[in-house]
Amino acid sequence: KNRNPHETEFHQAVKEVFLSLIPVIADNPAYIEHAILDRLVEPDRLISFRVPWLDDNGKVQVNRGFRVQFSNAIGPYKGGLRFHPTVNASIVKFLGFEQIFKNALTGQAIGGGKGGSDFDPKGKSDLEIMRFCQSFMTELSKHIGADIDVPAGDIGVGAREIGYMFGQYKKLVGAYEAGVLTGKGIGYGGSLGRKEATGYGAVYFVEHMLKNAGYGFDGSTVVVSGSGNVSIYAMEKAMQLGAKVVACSDSSGYIYHGQGINLATIKRLKEVENRRVRDYVIEHPDAVYVEGCTGIWTIPCDIALPCATQNEIDKASAELLVRNGVKAVGEGANMPSTLEAIDVFLDNKVLFGPAKAANAGGVSVSALEMAQNSARLSWTMDEVDAKLRQIMSNIYNECMNASEKYGVPGNLVIGANIAGFVKVADAMIAQGV
Ligand code: NDP
Repeated sequence: KNRNPHETEFHQAVKEVFLSLIPVIADNPAYIEHAILDRLVEPDRLISFRVPWLDDNGKVQVNRGFRVQFSNAIGPYKGGLRFHPTVNASIVKFLGFEQIFKNALTGQAIGGGKGGSDFDPKGKSDLEIMRFCQSFMTELSKHIGADIDVPAGDIGVGAREIGYMFGQYKKLVGAYEAGVLTGKGIGYGGSLGRKEATGYGAVYFVEHMLKNAGYGFDGSTVVVSGSGNVSIYAMEKAMQLGAKVVACSDSSGYIYHGQGINLATIKRLKEVENRRVRDYVIEHPDAVYVEGCTGIWTIPCDIALPCATQNEIDKASAELLVRNGVKAVGEGANMPSTLEAIDVFLDNKVLFGPAKAANAGGVSVSALEMAQNSARLSWTMDEVDAKLRQIMSNIYNECMNASEKYGVPGNLVIGANIAGFVKVADAMIAQGV
């Protein structure tokens, strides 16, 4: 904490992992001998840079860009870019740190990284977005490469932004290096199924949790926070499996629709028309819109899928969910539950799928995109989806096995942290200091 003052989100992420590792460290003195924990909390490098760009009035704007390259012990740095006004060193470090273990859990050869900018895409024109992305990539291009560091999307960064950044990278290096970014458009090196992967993967993961406890999505009531990339495809898959999704949100407020959300309306509003969820009730007057996004957790549900942002479920919201009978929580977003909220879920025997495991489907399909780029071929949606299902099943089994081995059967927080950590720590020892 002295070395990284004010980095509260980073401290929170490290605390969650380190508390989980107590049994595995006690069993393996080599991890202490090789100072694995001290080495893991210090990123290989944190790059911070100026991003100047011209707005539509010809005025110069300046934002700050970041890339944290945390660990490449098992593969090139890999992790998304976030464009949101809250982005700072603490946010990118918490996300990059989590990414190390998540990526290890996928079973693919990818290390941990993350990046972004405090740029706010809301209200910007398409040309402003393009100029910003080009300026951002002008600096970032010096630090990435298909075998070095492979960024992707995250909050505020989708196929459009990846397209502009890829175009700029191509101009700067003078080569078509498809594998330098993932989440590309399908027509120029993207993978089918990438857009859906995080949301679908989270639902596949929760499906395993439910199955193990004798439940399923069919006939259940589900609340999904957010209405972005992860939320939309979590809702879609949950609905396909027979669930009724009654609520979703954005950072302004949430909608509740008792008969079930109409996903086609949400997709059009968010993906095509770039509007707010409050506009949903114009077309569905029997639904209600409530200002303020955290109120979404007051809605009774069987399954809660937080898919918006960090710390969106605090202790009070977790207690409310428990009181209202929630059976399972699957984290589609990164670190959406505070440490206190996680304790409430675990103490009350709620099935809990932590982000590192539950939302690993996105980065897994990004690694499949890299594989397709290297092999210069494209798999079908069915092929990608089958691989995603298999990966999510493997992750679930690994987390369960680790939880059993270390005496906390079913505790997937501890299971995920240990299973991811062991792979990275063993690789670090094998490669020397
Ligand atoms: P999007 O930008 O597509 O959507 C984000 C959604 O969350 C929007 O509805 C947004 O509302 C809402 N949101 C963002 N910030 C806040 C906030 N501070 N308070 C309340 N709501 C907020 O992002 P993604 O769907 O890609 O990402 C969502 C989460 O999933 C993030 O935690 C991300 O790190 C994680 N994730 C994403 C992956 C991916 O493949 N995209 C992979 C793994 C994890 P509004 O429109 O009002 O801003």
